[in-house]
Formats: sequence, C-alpha cells, structure tokens
Amino acid sequence: MNDCLFCGIAAGDIPSTKVYEDETVLAFRDLNPQAPVHILVIPKTHITSVNALTEENAASATACLLAIPKIAAQEGFAAGGYRVVSNCGADAGQTVPHLHFHILAGKRLEDSMA
Ligand code: 5GP
Ligand code: ZN
Repeated sequence: MNDCLFCGIAAGDIPSTKVYEDETVLAFRDLNPQAPVHILVIPKTHITSVNALTEENAASATACLLAIPKIAAQEGFAAGGYRVVSNCGADAGQTVPHLHFHILAGKRLEDSMA
C-alpha cells in the first residue's frame, strides 16, 4: 500500500463511514463535517487532484461526478440543493493529495465560496 490516506480508505485498510460505492468510486462521510451533510467522493485509483486529470484517467473523475446525483437522491438532499467542491493545491487548502469532491448539503450554505 502507498502512504496515501484516501488510497488506504479506498482499499478498506483505513475505516470510513461509507455512503456509496461502485467499481470505480467510493463516497464516505467527512471526519470533520463542515455542513450537516459532508460527503467525500473519490476515485478508487490514485489521482492527485483535478490538476492531474488527463484523457487517460478522466473516466474515473467522470464516474465520481456521475455518482453525485445518485448519492443526492439516496441521501435525500437533492431537492434542497447542495454544493460540490474540489480543492486543488496549496492555495485552495487541499490537505489530502488524492482527488476528492466534497458534497456539502443540509443547510443554506454561505454565499461566499472564497
Ligand atoms: P481537502 O482539505 O484536501 O479538500 O479535504 C480533505 C478532507 O478530508 C477534509 O475535509 C478532512 O476533514 C477530511 N479527512 C481527513 N482525514 C480524514 C479521514 O481519515 N477520514 C475521513 N472520513 N475524512 C478525512
Ligand atoms: Zn491516493
């Protein structure tokens, strides 16, 4: 196993509260939620961030995006609305260098995104 935290979660070596899983994607609850619903959606294969996407690995990022409306329907927050965020690099405050999409929901989110 490499030393990537989210690769460890994807492999099941590090526990997480799973919300959704398919062949390519895992979604689990954020350990430090910033909204009533805070879910992380990751590709099971290691990609560092949006900035590392290529034609070759883009399918797993697309799979993450396609999982999001399924998760929204499953968890019941689609109607209320939600925010999807992917921090990319130091200035965005990315702390885990494995591509992930935050889903934030369950309240009226702040208007400011920056
Ligand atoms: P970033 O800051 O890289 O955009 O987001 C990383 C997210 O991962 C943070 O929201 C943080 O709370 C979450 N996180 C960090 N370590 C763990 C962990 O071990 N388990 C879970 N479920 N979330 C984690
Ligand atoms: Zn990784």
